[in-house]
Amino acid sequence: MKDTVAQLNEKRKLLAAKMPDPRTALTGSLMSRMVRCNKPGCRHCQKGGKGHGPIWILSVSQGQGRVRQIPIPLHLKQEVEEGLERFAAIQSLLQQIGEVNQQLLQERKRQ
Ligand SMILES: [Zn+2]
Repeated sequence: MKDTVAQLNEKRKLLAAKMPDPRTALTGSLMSRMVRCNKPGCRHCQKGGKGHGPIWILSVSQGQGRVRQIPIPLHLKQEVEEGLERFAAIQSLLQQIGEVNQQLLQERKRQ
């Protein structure tokens, strides 16, 4: 069964009401990596050792295949994760609102 205009309007209203504050939305993706200090005799970096870390890197695409890597200190990691989650949540809601508006447009053409 197709949604009516009233149902679509209600759906759109609920989606918009769920929209989080965008001020802390953050782009990029958070990755971790181990690093080697190359100090002689370091037991973490010896053959078979895993190295130090993990360290956290925010990887940001800058277009044309270029990627900027921003090291993230541990005390900022949670804030970065929350910013990335917020961006994804806003993007998902915006996508859903856009789809509802497409359906509304179709309904309005029919009237
Ligand atoms: Zn080391």
